Amino acid sequence: MFVRILVPCFNEAPVLHHMYDQLSDILSVDSQLQQYQYDILFVDDGSTDDTLTIIKQYASINHRVKYISFSRNFGKEAAMYAGLKESDTVDAVVIIDSDLQHPPELIPKMIKAFTQGYHQVVACRDRTGEQQWRKRLTKLYYGTINRLIDVSLMDGVGDFRLLSQKAVHAVLSLSEYNRFSKGIFAWIGFAPKVIHYQNKIRVNGVSKWSFKQLFNYAIDGLLSFNNKPLRSLIYIGTLILIFSFIYIIVSLGDAVLYGIQTPGYFTTIFAITFLGSIQLVSIGIIGEYIGRIYYEVKHRPLYIVNTTNLLKAEVAKNESVKE
Ligand code: UDP
Ligand code: MG
Repeated sequence: MFVRILVPCFNEAPVLHHMYDQLSDILSVDSQLQQYQYDILFVDDGSTDDTLTIIKQYASINHRVKYISFSRNFGKEAAMYAGLKESDTVDAVVIIDSDLQHPPELIPKMIKAFTQGYHQVVACRDRTGEQQWRKRLTKLYYGTINRLIDVSLMDGVGDFRLLSQKAVHAVLSLSEYNRFSKGIFAWIGFAPKVIHYQNKIRVNGVSKWSFKQLFNYAIDGLLSFNNKPLRSLIYIGTLILIFSFIYIIVSLGDAVLYGIQTPGYFTTIFAITFLGSIQLVSIGIIGEYIGRIYYEVKHRPLYIVNTTNLLKAEVAKNESVKE
């Protein structure tokens, strides 16, 4: 059995030592206990600090350390895709963050569950240490999104997970450009085994997520999985149509019976602002879908590799996402 640990890194120099020490300690013991081979694949997502230098140092002293380094920052989704693409022959892949927010202690449990036959093992964090408003907002988000999209997303479950070879192939078969991994992992099925853990605050370095990015991520989640937002426009439009029809009949009757009396100031302002904003939002939603189509049809690769110590032939074959 061969297990690969996949670590996307973007400017993680301050924590990488910590992470690597913990990870290699745990793996060297556990690989003996559970009898498996392993390596660690760092995907350097175009870091501008010493991340790559540090990784190269590890690689020079430890033959189990592999790396792929991108030509610039392509985002975590691309980093994970690249890592999985290079790992379609190993028995299992564990995806783990490099900032120690994903406790490496869980990896042995995940591998154990894998040997028991699970194709996906996910780690689920609680929300210890998070601000109250954030917890509420997240709860609201999951409540809403699960009603709106086809797959069911679980609060606290992220990218920290083990995928069997079958699951890796399934994830790779969804080669879309706009990647919403949370949804993709749920979409491929393979009922996962869930391992719970306590949330950890980042040890060092900073999270790359701003509030705006989180907000956009939430919208991505809504839009990447189906066309329900488009359909909801039809519902809203129809509803307004019915109301305006009733209103027209009533106003007409009023005008015929009693003559035109009111200046209609409120109605006019209401119609302009309300309908105007609904139209703008609708155009926005449609535009968002068109934007996605635009990116999909371009067939751009998800990432460009700069350097790697994986076998050359392997990478050349896989460099672009869509052949
Ligand atoms: N990451 C990455 N590319 C990016 C942003 C982040 O590879 O453009 C990596 C980062 O190094 C870390 C993981 O993705 O290992 C999660 O990032 P972060 O801690 O910023 O996100 P959060 O934990 O807040 O979701
Ligand atoms: Mg983090």
